Amino acid sequence: MKRIGKLMADIWIHNGTIIGGHGGEPIKNGVVHIRDNRIHAVGRAAEIGMPAGVQKIDAQGGTILPGLIDTHVHIMFEYQNPEVMAQQPFSLRFYNAVHYMRRTIDAGITSVRDAGGADLGTKTAVERGLVVGPRMMISTAPLGITGGHSDWWQPSGSGFNLFPTYPGMPEGLCDGVEDVRRAVRQVLRAGADVIKIMATGGVLSPTDHPDFIGFSEEELRVIVEEGEKRRGVKVMAHAQGLEGIKLALRAGIHSIEHGIYLDDETCELMLEHGAFLVPTLIAPIWVLEMAQATGAVPEYGVRKARESIEAHTESISLAVKKGVKIAMGTDAGVIPHGQNLRELGLMVKCGMTPMQVLVATTKTAAECMGWDDRLGTLEPGKLADVIVTRTDPLQNIESLENTDNITVVIQDGKILKNHLDKN
Ligand SMILES: [Zn+2]
Repeated sequence: MKRIGKLMADIWIHNGTIIGGHGGEPIKNGVVHIRDNRIHAVGRAAEIGMPAGVQKIDAQGGTILPGLIDTHVHIMFEYQNPEVMAQQPFSLRFYNAVHYMRRTIDAGITSVRDAGGADLGTKTAVERGLVVGPRMMISTAPLGITGGHSDWWQPSGSGFNLFPTYPGMPEGLCDGVEDVRRAVRQVLRAGADVIKIMATGGVLSPTDHPDFIGFSEEELRVIVEEGEKRRGVKVMAHAQGLEGIKLALRAGIHSIEHGIYLDDETCELMLEHGAFLVPTLIAPIWVLEMAQATGAVPEYGVRKARESIEAHTESISLAVKKGVKIAMGTDAGVIPHGQNLRELGLMVKCGMTPMQVLVATTKTAAECMGWDDRLGTLEPGKLADVIVTRTDPLQNIESLENTDNITVVIQDGKILKNHLDKN
């Protein structure tokens, strides 16, 4: 990342309890020493010498954590009634996204995996420091079948497409082995760091259902072959219904998104394949809340959200019990950006401890993205993504939902939010 002006001073965060992301005992009265864009030292205040000329941040008895990671967002949109979205000028999405990215940072999320919609230009703008936003792993266009979850076709023949094509954003609809191969190669050419596919139907799509199977087994194998086997680019699958989840796992998909209808067998398959589960528990709940508050959700969306909420909780609770690897992800974009941490309390309701939830939001999320060599825990040598919270998330995980309780956000050694100075 480019820096303007003089070399940055070291940053010295003190007077806080460190939760390092690896699930170990918190360190009381801890210090995190940042040098340039890396973590230089982490430990007890008594054990770490303070060099001269550091910029001090007094955590004021709060909690010091690694920058949080959301492994399932859509930074380019915020869901509204399709009729409203259809009226929006095309390029407005890029300006809106600037605000969505800022809100994501303000929530303490310093890295995201975009599950469809963000292109290489958006990622590059963040990397170059043109806009403030989370470090991004992008998928560009989600791949799906005709009539599947990413197909916004309407009987009238007109309407709104949530995933329009434009330079840098290929067509994601594809059918049959060779067409699917072409589509994978196109998203890779457009800069995809991860391939997003729709392995089953979903809640907000007009003509399908979560139980419907998307790609065939052969198509899934070609996707994994072109992506992970040939290029080392992993595949994340929107997968809600049982049969579609099984097909995806057998084909070697890296992460199962949503996982609304898991059973014992699928959990065991996940363990066997080392696949990650990204629950996005907040997504269907928000769809119902939005429907009740504004009526802005089509009938099919409300009906399918209502059907899935209870099953979703049971499904994720089962996966927790079975010890499936869980990475935090929210589907932000379906929910408003910045409210991502509402997910954490819901994960606790599925049987995870607050500490397990924090690990899922840091270390395991970084592992899911293949970024655990540089992010996810507070360790010397890792990139300096560090946040401070006013409250203790182990005592009250819901307190993190309020972004005012996220007092400091540092990304790559750069202070992007600091509300402690104002007190
Ligand atoms: Zn999504």
